[in-house]
Amino acid sequence: MENKRIRIGHLYPELLNLYGDTGNILTLKNRLLWRGIEAEVETIGKDSMIDFKNLDIVFLGGGSDREQLIVCHLLEQQKESLSEYVESGGVLVAVCGGYQLLGKTYPLDGQPVKGLGILDIETEVNDERLIGNVVICSGLLSKNELIVGFENHAGRTRLGSCEPFGKVLTGYGNNGEDDTCGAVYKNVLGTYLHGPLLPKNPALADYLLEKALLRKYGEAELLPLEDQAEKEAHQYAVKRFLKQS
Ligand code: GLN
Repeated sequence: MENKRIRIGHLYPELLNLYGDTGNILTLKNRLLWRGIEAEVETIGKDSMIDFKNLDIVFLGGGSDREQLIVCHLLEQQKESLSEYVESGGVLVAVCGGYQLLGKTYPLDGQPVKGLGILDIETEVNDERLIGNVVICSGLLSKNELIVGFENHAGRTRLGSCEPFGKVLTGYGNNGEDDTCGAVYKNVLGTYLHGPLLPKNPALADYLLEKALLRKYGEAELLPLEDQAEKEAHQYAVKRFLKQS
């Protein structure tokens, strides 16, 4: 039987790399390797073109406004292949600044900047930053599993036609007003949840791996892992953050 292999593209980590975003890559990679599935990480720097046809999961982290703009310009030149990747069900995870730039507009220095238009979202800015721990309930996961994370953003994002990633139980989410957090379109997941999102939420990591395997191989059997410690850490964080609210 053919060995399965998933290729993960980590886009521009020298620009978008806030709060331990790399932990997400390690989690995806290790949860594949532990199951005997080959995993390859391709780190894409600002001088390389991205071969989206060769990737199964793409990760875009968070960053400052300045870096966000640079990345938006870099991706603008490859928008067509990014869009083909998304429309063909490619898995794309975009965090905070990366999430905002996938939308129609986002603000920089008080001016709306045109985003990539991959997600039907629009972002405005407010002087008051939305910072803190977050717990959301997401329809993406079965058994009503909750998702925990940390947010820190000035942007206020409103959703157009795409679905929210989840409903906020604690924290601010997209805009602090409508209880939505993040956005989902096909296999694109945009979120304000920063840093080690996937280490903190192993079920979400498996959800993404399943989507990537299904797209590539038409089947996705994810063997159970000995991940009691990860699950306990997740539960502990959920309880602690819900209590804070
Ligand atoms: N421009 C973003 C903001 O709203 C950047 C956030 C981030 O990636 N931390 O603040």
